[in-house]
Amino acid sequence: DDRIISGAPAPGEGHDRALRPQTLSEFVGQEQAKGNLKVFIDAARGRGESLDHVLLFGPPGLGKTTLAQIVARELGVGFRATSGPILAKAGDLAAILTNLEPRDVLFIDEIHRLAPTVEEILYPAMEDHVLDLIIGEGPSARSVRIDLAPFTLVGATTRAGLLATPLRDRFGIPLRLEFYTPEELVRVITGAARKMGVAVNDEGAREIASRSRGTPRVAGRLLRRVRDFAEAEGSPVIDRLAAARALSRLEVDEAGLDSLDRRFLKALIENYGGGPVGMDTLAAAIAEARDSVEDVIEPYLLQQGFIQRTPRGRMACARAYAHLGLAEPPKPAG
Ligand code: ADP
Repeated sequence: DDRIISGAPAPGEGHDRALRPQTLSEFVGQEQAKGNLKVFIDAARGRGESLDHVLLFGPPGLGKTTLAQIVARELGVGFRATSGPILAKAGDLAAILTNLEPRDVLFIDEIHRLAPTVEEILYPAMEDHVLDLIIGEGPSARSVRIDLAPFTLVGATTRAGLLATPLRDRFGIPLRLEFYTPEELVRVITGAARKMGVAVNDEGAREIASRSRGTPRVAGRLLRRVRDFAEAEGSPVIDRLAAARALSRLEVDEAGLDSLDRRFLKALIENYGGGPVGMDTLAAAIAEARDSVEDVIEPYLLQQGFIQRTPRGRMACARAYAHLGLAEPPKPAG
């Protein structure tokens, strides 16, 4: 996934740890999620108990991993991170769980991709802090129960609906992360620029923010690319023009859409008369995996009113026609 505006991390980006906000107050936006978390964290700290399990859901790049780390830091406990696809066997998860210290935070990214056998041992671990393992095979197999330290599971997923209901129900604190406003992204960009030692003025930050698809990871990535162009051009400060020039060379338009978004909208309008059309058909039309279309392309287009979801499929809205400079078909009479 090498889109410049993809929310997914690119190789090497995992190392920008220095840029990550370290505290709740440094974490920009998501006021509702932060407000709730603060209350629950303070209460758990006050009682000396582990925080209830937290489920973070929302499109990639909105800060789920960052927030999980902040939760551990604010609780003053250890942090372990893994992900659904990495935990192939029940034993992989068991090894991690038995090594947790009391009240530690265990972060499982892409928790909707846990293998069923792994998910099964997670239930009693979350609920009763015990591990039920089967040892041996056949008639000599027996089950052993191991007590675990009370811990907090922070699970992350793109859409809450991807989780099986029994798993979803075991999270006491479900929090939905929202796309960031341009003003919030300006703060993210100014903060990152300060840490990177990049000079960007207010209008430059605004230009990048307005094209970042409401996503901090995209904002950070665009800032780095714009800096490269500005350095090549010898611009000492990233201002509005320097940012706009760089972003158009990256084919990110004024609405923050890239060529893949535009291909999606074009296919919807030109091949399917603006819909309604099913997601499988649309994903096939642009030769992309349905999952990545649903996780990365669709949420922002929906939120921005380019498309809408109907029971019979996706439909293009007036804004999509206007953005592509295409004529809207006449509305059926009556
Ligand atoms: P996710 O886990 O949802 O994919 P991450 O937590 O990895 O997203 O965040 C992606 C990038 O965006 C990180 O570099 C992080 O520092 C930055 N970031 C995310 N949320 C914020 C925020 N609220 N304020 C500042 N930077 C943020």
